[in-house]
Order: sequence, then structure tokens, then C-alpha cells
Amino acid sequence: MIEPMKAKTIIKIQEWVNKLSCLLIFICIIAIVWKPIIAFADNGDTIVHVTNTGKCYHTAGCYHLRSDREMTLYEAVVENGYNPCIDCNPPIYDGPEPLHEKMEKSQSSSSSKSNNTTNSKEKTDIAEKDEEGETLFLKVIIGLMACFLGLKLIGFTKRTYKKWRIEKELFLQEQNRYMALYANKDPLSLVDIPKDSFIKDGYPCSNGNGPYGDYTVYIAKKNGKVLHVKPECGGVNLAPINYAQVYNLPHCKRCASGKKIKLPKIGWYQEYIEITRIKKKYQIP
Ligand SMILES: [Zn+2]
Ligand SMILES: [Zn+2]
Repeated sequence: MIEPMKAKTIIKIQEWVNKLSCLLIFICIIAIVWKPIIAFADNGDTIVHVTNTGKCYHTAGCYHLRSDREMTLYEAVVENGYNPCIDCNPPIYDGPEPLHEKMEKSQSSSSSKSNNTTNSKEKTDIAEKDEEGETLFLKVIIGLMACFLGLKLIGFTKRTYKKWRIEKELFLQEQNRYMALYANKDPLSLVDIPKDSFIKDGYPCSNGNGPYGDYTVYIAKKNGKVLHVKPECGGVNLAPINYAQVYNLPHCKRCASGKKIKLPKIGWYQEYIEITRIKKKYQIP
């Protein structure tokens, strides 16, 4: 019998799985959108990467780097006034030169140079905005993917649970059916045992020659693939075995073929085994 307690436990587990998957999606989205800026202070010797148009400097391999120019962190920050990229967390300048003053100087000097520089600065701003837009777009895409996967996960657990419930329902129906048929009955009393046959050590037996009586057959001691009815065949000594264990092996043409050869019927034994299996599976007393 399936206890209602067990079913309740499963439902509780199901609810928890749902809650956990929601939490997981939430964490995914937070992790993607909120990227902690962990940067390392640096005296300016480290090589950083800049693009031809952007206003930021990057670590090698940052996805913003469509064009790549190398310079030291000092050159990037103090001389050229680049800002650290928010996506690849490059090192932060921590050298003796005052950072903001120099950056302001470089910015004011570059803007006072000529119209040409101002134009290129505007272009730079546009490129930077494009890059930021791209980043946001990527984040939205990744967030949506996380949502999609989360919903898939919830769907999967729901389907699994539904399947489990249907299987349980079927199990209960079968159990009721077998309960009516087999409850408190010895499987042996439910099958037609041939006269003088019985079960010994789990195998069908009868009184007679060999360890299993009429149910004794023989196979080669090593990798026997053929069933014999004589303990010695073709000058080879064979090992006795119960016929129920090897009934589907091909019969020896020398000793186990022909009309005279009569092997015992084992249908009753197979039925007995099946009833025993069902009683165990459905926990029938
Ligand atoms: Zn970057
Ligand atoms: Zn033989």
C-alpha cells in the first residue's frame, strides 16, 4: 500500500523544487545584471588595452575590443584619461600621480587643441554609447535565456511529478487487483504442480536421478551453450544444472534431441516465479 504520508512528502518536495528553481532564476538574473567590480590597484606598469574609438581601457580579451591598442596603465589613465571598463574589471591606477587632475588636464588639453579633436571626441562618445547599449542588450538576452531555462525547469519538474502520480495511480490499481487474487495465498497453491514435483532451494525438483530429479540436465562446465540430458556426452564430463535455468538453450543433437527425449514441463514453475515476483513488487501479504 502507498501511504498518504509518503504522497504528502513527495508533494512537499515538489513544492520545494519549484521554490528553489524560482530562487535559482532570481539569483541568475541578479548575478548577470549586478556584476561586482572587483579591481586591483596598480602603480601603472600593467599593460592595458584600448580601442581606436572608445574612452575606456580594458583587460586583454574583453569583448569590447574590436580594435586593440596596447599601452601601460599609466599612459592610459594619466596621459590619455581613459576610464576603466565596467565589464572586464581592468586594474585601477594607484600610482603617485594624482589621477583626477591629470585626467581633467588631458581632457581639457585635448578639447582645446582643435575642432578636429572635438569632432573625434564626439565620435568617441557615440562609439562608447553603442558599446554600452550592446552590453545592456547582451544582459537582457542572457536574462531572458535564464528565465526561459528556469521556466523549462519548472515545466520539467511538473511533468515529472504528473508522470509519477499517474504511475502511482496505476500501481495502486494493480495492487488492488493482485490483492484480491493473491493476498494470503501461497504462490505454490495457485499453480498446477505436476505430481511428485516440488520446489527445492528455489528450483523445481522431483525424486529421481540427479540433484533435481527429472529436472536435472547437463551443460559443459565452462561456457556451456548446449543442453544435454546425459551426465557424459561425447566423452566429456558435464555439470548438472536445473532445467528451469537453461530451458532456452539449444538441445544437444546427440543426447537431447528426438522424440524419446522428454523434458519436464516448467510452465507451472514460471507461473510460480511470476506470482512470487508480483507479490513482492506490490507488497501483497
Ligand atoms: Zn572591457
Ligand atoms: Zn549431448
